[in-house]
Amino acid sequence: VLQLRGIAKAFGAQQVLHPISFQLKQGERVCILGPSGCGKSTLLQIVAGLLRADSGEVEMDGRMVENGAQYVPPEKRPLNMVFQDYALWPHMSVRENIEYGMKRRKVDHGARKERLTQLQALLQLEGLLERLPAQLSGGQQQRVGIARALATEPRVLLMDEPLSNLDVKLRTDMRNELANLLGNLSIATLYVTHDMMEAFTLADRILVLREGRIDQLAAPQELFERPATPWVARLMGYHN
Ligand code: ATP
Ligand code: MG
Repeated sequence: VLQLRGIAKAFGAQQVLHPISFQLKQGERVCILGPSGCGKSTLLQIVAGLLRADSGEVEMDGRMVENGAQYVPPEKRPLNMVFQDYALWPHMSVRENIEYGMKRRKVDHGARKERLTQLQALLQLEGLLERLPAQLSGGQQQRVGIARALATEPRVLLMDEPLSNLDVKLRTDMRNELANLLGNLSIATLYVTHDMMEAFTLADRILVLREGRIDQLAAPQELFERPATPWVARLMGYHN
């Protein structure tokens, strides 16, 4: 559903992404794992359409959304995003936050209500729909963010360190919840993290990004058993 070919990006003299190519298959979950500053968010923003690449192509659902000549803006791409800071509308209730994207896409009242009921159960938001974001805990806010992203039934879900603002306990719980949820929904997901446990719990494949290059892209097990570079080996805890 998602294909990147030779995506490169520089900020001034700093080459943040060297030509990067990979694809995300239907229903697949790929975690982008790498240290701070390696270009994870930059890559995700290019996929989202929030940032233009210097060169290369992005294809989504068989449609060219980014190359030298063509550019499809974020709201017209079949994707949705969840960020580190949940970025909920502070003046809207939970219900309104979740319904917002559906209304914009002209989903009718009946279908909205049905999807809201599903998402409420899926993400344990019972009893919270009329509250404002400020009246929720961090974990609850993040669940609303995820519900909102899923509400429009995107083909591709982009998540940029969605759990990094949560405390350790909540983070572990949410990590497992999210793994179940994404596994059941089988929605193609690109998930950015620098947390190894998260990547191992959530990913079908892990993309190890270092200084704007792909060190390895493989299933977690394979990364562990056959690290492709000394860097990946060290990441996996081999000390030599
Ligand atoms: P983190 O794990 O800390 O979120 P990251 O892997 O997401 O890091 P990016 O945000 O993609 O890293 O940034 C990669 C590099 O590009 C960093 O060195 C950053 O300073 C630089 N950078 C990012 N955005 C800009 C910008 N708008 N202008 C200039 N430099 C930028
Ligand atoms: Mg980042």
